[in-house]
Parts: sequence; structure tokens; C-alpha cells
Amino acid sequence: MQPIKFDESKLTDETMTAVISASAEVSEDDTYDVNEETNKTTKNIIVIGAGIVGISTALWLQRDGHSVTLIDKKGPAAGASFGNAGVLASGAVVPVTVPGLLRKAPKMLFSPNQPLFLKWSYLPKLIPFLRKYIKHANAVSVEKISHGLSQLLHDAPDQHFALANGTEAEKYIDLADYMYGYKDEAAFLSDHFGWDVRKRRGVNFVKMNAESLGNYDLNLKGRFGYGIQCKNHGRIKDPGAYILNLSKHFVAKGGTILIKDVTDFEIEDGHCKSVITLKEKLIADSYVLTAGAWSGTWAAALGVKVPMEAERGYHIEFINPSITLRSPLMVVGGKFVVNSMNGRMRCAGVIEFGGLDSPPAKAPFKLLKKQMAELFPDLTYDSIDEWMGHRPATADSLPIIGVSPNADNIFMGYGHHHIGLSGGPKTGRWLAKLATGAPLNVDLSAYAADRQI
Ligand SMILES: Cc1cc2nc3c(=O)[nH]c(=O)nc-3n(C[C@H](O)[C@H](O)[C@H](O)COP(=O)(O)OP(=O)(O)OC[C@H]3O[C@@H](n4cnc5c(N)ncnc54)[C@H](O)[C@@H]3O)c2cc1C
Repeated sequence: MQPIKFDESKLTDETMTAVISASAEVSEDDTYDVNEETNKTTKNIIVIGAGIVGISTALWLQRDGHSVTLIDKKGPAAGASFGNAGVLASGAVVPVTVPGLLRKAPKMLFSPNQPLFLKWSYLPKLIPFLRKYIKHANAVSVEKISHGLSQLLHDAPDQHFALANGTEAEKYIDLADYMYGYKDEAAFLSDHFGWDVRKRRGVNFVKMNAESLGNYDLNLKGRFGYGIQCKNHGRIKDPGAYILNLSKHFVAKGGTILIKDVTDFEIEDGHCKSVITLKEKLIADSYVLTAGAWSGTWAAALGVKVPMEAERGYHIEFINPSITLRSPLMVVGGKFVVNSMNGRMRCAGVIEFGGLDSPPAKAPFKLLKKQMAELFPDLTYDSIDEWMGHRPATADSLPIIGVSPNADNIFMGYGHHHIGLSGGPKTGRWLAKLATGAPLNVDLSAYAADRQI
């Protein structure tokens, strides 16, 4: 079987459809050995999942001279990497699990005006995860988690510029502040725990009163009583288009993208012999699992000890909006982000536990629309788009980055919950080194698959 390649000049929805139908024609027992295709001095590596982590890994491997096949069941940017808020959050070192969460969560769950939702039928499956998740809502755990997040995120914009350098994707990256809007100073002071943590991790931020917020951006005038300007952040102006352009570059440089649904890994004596898809076996020297929230499917087989759940998130987009914000904005009271992107204003947030399979709920969209109407009553636009996706959320809010305890040639990079767009490029760099045995002068023990949590 020949690998199916994207036509780099036509990376459109039609191309995707053509690729999907072409791959459906492969016969049941086909075996495709990527080792046959290339020079033996390079390694042949299969990367599974073409979100931001997968495309970053594939590109860094390719730049190091290796032959890379990137597999996705739907195509590039089919998961969370498409619909996120687009913030390069170099200062996002505070997890959701902060002290006091357990006290607040029940009230939040029963209110349609709070950004925490649960599909109640899913609760029995969720309980073992929740037990471990809530265990981390204390100051000692937050301190440890914040170190792991800081190592991954502190230079997020630079990592994106390095990844996209020399590609069409570069034009989607902006250096920007990240603004936090509070109702008043009292609301800010009640949130001091997180800001103390950020300060200790070296996040550079400035406090602002209502007047200085208005001077910073006229569009913020009168909307908040108090705010924070976080410096050295960035934004992606269209996350979906950004990843499609990175994918296009990857293909133009000789990489292969296959549209296939991976179902299993064939592991024998601690070594992976192939990945199995719905139709065939694919053989390579090494395999990298970057399938976001779906990666947990193989946790037991790969020896991963860290529980993970899909944390469903939502966005609405105002097309051709009358307001363009200078910087991405976290509306702290509603826990959602507003970010001006190419031709639209995206409003993203909500945490909903409900697994991978059920369709989007209506209540989160309703809540986001209500909150936006209250904050921006003067906003006009042509139409609204809606989207729901799955954040890969581990119980201790740190991703899994490292080798599988059960197979010496399977490497894993997933579990980036709210910060995967920001941390994806560096994760890809680290994975590329791990998968090829190159020296890596970084302590990755905080992200080990078999860590105690
Ligand atoms: C509402 C919302 C807002 C967010 N805002 C931000 C933000 O502002 N900044 C930030 O840094 N992060 C943000 N995030 C988080 C970020 O989007 C994710 O952490 C990140 O996109 C995860 O990337 P990934 O590559 O691991 O997974 P994904 O992007 O989900 O990619 C996984 C890929 O694996 C593929 N796949 C799954 N199963 C298989 C299979 N069996 N075979 C083959 N392929 C498979 C899927 O099709 C998918 O394309 C946000 C998330 C949400 C939901």
C-alpha cells in the first residue's frame, strides 16, 4: 500500500474528504511497513493524532531528518486544537484544582449560571477520577503542579515562533498581553492565592484600576472595576488554520498524513511491533501517541498510572464583530476567555464532565451567550457559530510526556488540559528527542506516565 499524501496546494475540506474516502479503500489485511519506504539511516516514526502536540512532534522529527507518518482519524486539527481560546498562556501555572474547590463545586454544579456542568448519567464512571482530581486541591499540590507547568509554558510564544518559522503558519502568531478582568478590587483580592503562585513562578503582571483598563483598551472601558495585565503572552489568530498550515508544510517537506482510526498497539516483550488501525497494521521504528483526550483508551495497555478524563469545553464565535479587543481577555467572574481572531470574536470556556461520546449540551452555549450579552451589550455581529471539544485532563493537571512503561519504543505526549495550545510545541520538541534517543537536558520526571499521584 502506498501512503496517502495530501496535495499541499489543496488543503481544503474537499481534500480531507478525498483522503478519507481513499483510505477507506484499503483492504482488511493490508500491512504497510514505513521502513520499506526510506533510507535506513533515518528512523521511521509514526505519530498518532494531528492536534497541536502531534503536528509539533512530527515537524521537529522531520527537521531532525527522520521519516514521519502522522495519522489522524479525521485529519489535522480535528480535536481540541481547533476550537480553543487561542491564548499562548505562558503564565498559566495555576491549575483548576485550587484550595476551596471542593467547597465551591457543589453550588456551581447546581446552578445554570456557573461554568461547571456534569452529565449526571456519567457520574458513576467519573467518581474514581474525581477522587484523585480533588485530592490535588491543596496548596502543596498546586506548588508542585505549578513548577511542572512553568517548565513547559514559560516561553510558549517563542516555542511557537520556532515551530512555525519559515512556514505559512507564522502569520497566525501574535505577541500579546493576557488581560484578566475583575468586577472590582475586592474580587481580585479574593483571588490572591493564584496570583501569589504566579508571582513565585516569575509571571510578569501589572495591576490596573478601571481607568487604566480603559486607557489600555477603549473596548474595556466601563466593563470592569479592576484588572491585571499579564505580559509576555501571545495568541493564535486562528488555531484551526494555524495547524492546517503547519500540516501543509509538513507534507510539502515530504511528510505523510494518513486518515486512519488507530485501534490498538501490537506489543511483544516490551516492544511495539505495529499499530493496528481499522483496516491494517502499520510498522515503524518508534511510535508517538498524541491523541489528546482519546489517548486514555490505551492507558492500561501502555502502563499509564495517571487517570485522565475528557473535560468538555465550549466556544461561541461572533462573526464580523463590531468590537476588536487589543489582547485576549479572561473574564474572571464567568471563567471564560474572549479573544479577537481573524474576522471573529471567540468566547471560550466551561468545564463539563460527560465523557467522549455524548453530543454537546445546550446549557453551556446558553450560558456563554448570556454572559457575553451582559458584558458586551453594544456588540453587533453577523452570526454566531458554536463548537464543543474535549480537553485531555489528567487528575494532577500535568501532562504525560515520556516513554511507555510497557513498550520501549512508544512515546506519549497528552493530557494538556487547558494549556495544550501553549505547551504543544515544546512537548513536540521533547518527544522528538525522546523518540530518536537524542540527548535531552530536561528533567521530565514530573510528567512520567507511572508517577504516583
Ligand atoms: C474551550 C477550550 C479552550 C481552550 N483554550 C486554550 C487556550 O487558550 N490556550 C491553550 O494553551 N489551550 C487551550 N485549550 C486546551 C487545548 O486546546 C488542548 O489542550 C490541546 O488542543 C490538546 O491538543 P492535543 O494535540 O493533545 O489534542 P487534540 O487537539 O484533541 O488532538 C488529538 C487528535 O487525535 C486524533 N485521534 C483521536 N483518536 C484517534 C485514533 N484512535 N486514531 C487516530 N487519531 C485519533 C483526533 O482526531 C485529534 O485530531 C482549550 C481547550 C478548550 C476545549
